[in-house]
Amino acid sequence: MDFKSILEKIYRGASPEKNDLTSLLSAKTGEETESLFSKAYEIKKRHIGQKAHFRGLIEIGNICEKDCRYCGIRKSNKRVERFFMDEEEIVSEALFAYRNQYGSVVLQSGERQDDYFTEFIERAVRRIKEISSGELGVTLCLGEQSEETYRRWFAAGAHRYLLRIETSNPEIYRNLHPPDHDFEARKSCLHLLKKLGYQLGTGVMIGLPGQSLEDLADDIFFFRDCDCDMIGMGPFIPHKDTPMCADAPLSPESSLELALKMIAVTRLVLRDVNIASTTALQALSPTGREMGLLAGANIIMPNLTDTKYRASYQLYDGKPCLDENSSMCKNCLQRRIESIGESIGFGEWGDSPHFKKGKQ
Ligand code: SAH
Ligand code: SF4
Repeated sequence: MDFKSILEKIYRGASPEKNDLTSLLSAKTGEETESLFSKAYEIKKRHIGQKAHFRGLIEIGNICEKDCRYCGIRKSNKRVERFFMDEEEIVSEALFAYRNQYGSVVLQSGERQDDYFTEFIERAVRRIKEISSGELGVTLCLGEQSEETYRRWFAAGAHRYLLRIETSNPEIYRNLHPPDHDFEARKSCLHLLKKLGYQLGTGVMIGLPGQSLEDLADDIFFFRDCDCDMIGMGPFIPHKDTPMCADAPLSPESSLELALKMIAVTRLVLRDVNIASTTALQALSPTGREMGLLAGANIIMPNLTDTKYRASYQLYDGKPCLDENSSMCKNCLQRRIESIGESIGFGEWGDSPHFKKGKQ
């Protein structure tokens, strides 16, 4: 079948074969790519609408026990100045989100599994719920934890959790991490989170060394099979102080294009999930996040982190908006989103229709 027929078949809702997905992911620049994005946008319009939802991102600390080989805040990077916000700082950023009707916040940090951390997060989540009369949704993105910890944070009021699988290919996973980082353990965490009632988010990096289009097609099947409600994925961007600093197999342009195609194909296959247009897209092009929305994404994560910490929370090189504050980010993003004819779901949680259906 030619590209157009495959696109039409998946657009109409046929169950995809792996080679359908690799054909779509290899869309040629120009007409094929444009038609892929526009079909994905049609599906987004039908299942989600032309509305983006905000998740205010609070990068609460860069202390990390892990040593992922790609990440700028990995434990072995001695060049980064470590910080950890106090409770009042987190609460005041959440208050900004609440007053500006963001609907929800995401607390993200390096991975820590100590008791102090567990209790600290539990308290912070409770405070955020209190100061917003329960209205602000709380998403956590704090890595792998025990069942008990996930349970406590859920009981405190967090209702969504983001934990990227990074790649669904165990061999690539092994190459990206030191031997004590276990692919199966990460997968078990996803099952646990689902079981405990969280809205589940996962995702991958795109353009990794050794990653083929078949692997990316498998990633999409992985998202489908773990029944996730939201997806956050973006290009792999090397960080200068990591062992993978020179390992990007693709140019920034090709990496951006492939990431946008992944968003589009994921939207065509999964239809009613939330898909984030991630900041890493904007690191590769000033209009990367708008492009993400036009390729089928519907979630934007404006950065709420105090400007004084932003430079110390660089997972990859070239992170945008390092010297901007939360108000600047909000106004800039609102302008960008409205410029492509979309609106923002202010004051709404923006749960994915997929999650709502699962609850019926
Ligand atoms: N410590 C938590 C959350 C913070 S890291 C965790 O690892 O789950 C959040 C995400 O940043 C990771 O899941 C990874 O996909 C992404 N990331 C880290 N380094 C990156 C890089 N060099 N390029 C692109 N994304 C990166
Ligand atoms: Fe730590 Fe997450 Fe970075 Fe891995 S990706 S080093 S767990 S912050």
